[in-house]
Amino acid sequence: MLDQLDRRPRFALAHRPTPLAPMARLRSLLLSEGCACPPLLIKRDDCTGLAGGGNKARKLEFLVGEALAQDCDVLVTTGALQSNHARQTAAAAAAAGLGACLVLRDAVDYPGAAYRTSGNLLLDDILGAEVELAPRSADMTAHIDRTMERLTAAGRRPYFAPAGGSSACGALGYVAGYLELAGQLDERGGAEETLIIHASSSGGTQAGLLVAHAGLGGGPKVLGVNVYRKDAEAMTAEILALAARTAGLLASPAPEPAEVRLVNDWLGDGYGAPTAEMREAVALVARTEGILLDPVYAGKAMAGLLGLVRRGALADVGQVVFLHTGGMPALFAYAEEFAASDGAGRG
Ligand SMILES: *Cc1c(COP(=O)(O)O)cnc(C)c1O
Repeated sequence: MLDQLDRRPRFALAHRPTPLAPMARLRSLLLSEGCACPPLLIKRDDCTGLAGGGNKARKLEFLVGEALAQDCDVLVTTGALQSNHARQTAAAAAAAGLGACLVLRDAVDYPGAAYRTSGNLLLDDILGAEVELAPRSADMTAHIDRTMERLTAAGRRPYFAPAGGSSACGALGYVAGYLELAGQLDERGGAEETLIIHASSSGGTQAGLLVAHAGLGGGPKVLGVNVYRKDAEAMTAEILALAARTAGLLASPAPEPAEVRLVNDWLGDGYGAPTAEMREAVALVARTEGILLDPVYAGKAMAGLLGLVRRGALADVGQVVFLHTGGMPALFAYAEEFAASDGAGRG
């Protein structure tokens, strides 16, 4: 697995290794509530750099590597209006001297005005990306086909990365990410007893982590918090299929179906829809640890972690690593969530 991974074209984008640090104050608070809470660590993939950081920087190292190897000159990708992946793709393109074309779908019913102007959308513009807006009803496959044809007709050489950068190539970023984390845990001792908890959406993060786990034949287990799809069974099947394709690139064993674990109680009304548990998690981690999560992904994943601890579901786990996948710019797009609900922090 390792030598195959080293042979893949890769364009350095992320600050690596990202820090791994305890969340002692958050744990104390949970213990003071009377919960059985294992030691909590946080892996700071919000600190990958790349114009605001986040998990897509790891995937984009392999995606941009492949784009350059194929002599492409513009990255094309897709996502929601507030896609962190689109913003990091715009930044990666700039850093690699490529163009970026972002086909963003108006798929989330969030009424706040900033959702359509601020957050990641503002950063996409500053980073010089071309942004195409597609209505919710759009046939995205057809729309993207037209965009690719238009770019080709204009003499460009487009490289397409799917939503979330979750092709098998992109998922390699989290094969490498798992190896990095496992090395850090080994240094601290107790890697075998660890559970990694993270937000799961397009599945590349979880697939990559699971491929590394299967390839090593052990190490930290992985639990995704579903922030994306009501149909959890279909999502599990897609992650498993993506993991098999990713393992195929490395001639490495695919994960067993039973290894693909998702918890589904923290999605709320759907992708991008705020929940009370998310608001609590964002405020709590900000105020106990000084760490900013986001409303769409890491906030809901942390709500899952807190909920599992409070249910006693993690009492037998040796330690938990919360993988902070980034997304902080979206806080500004969802400003109303935090400004209106709680004036307490303003004195
Ligand atoms: C994309 C994203 C995720 C989910 O990662 P997938 O690989 O798409 O499952 C989690 N958190 C943040 C902040 C993201 O932008």
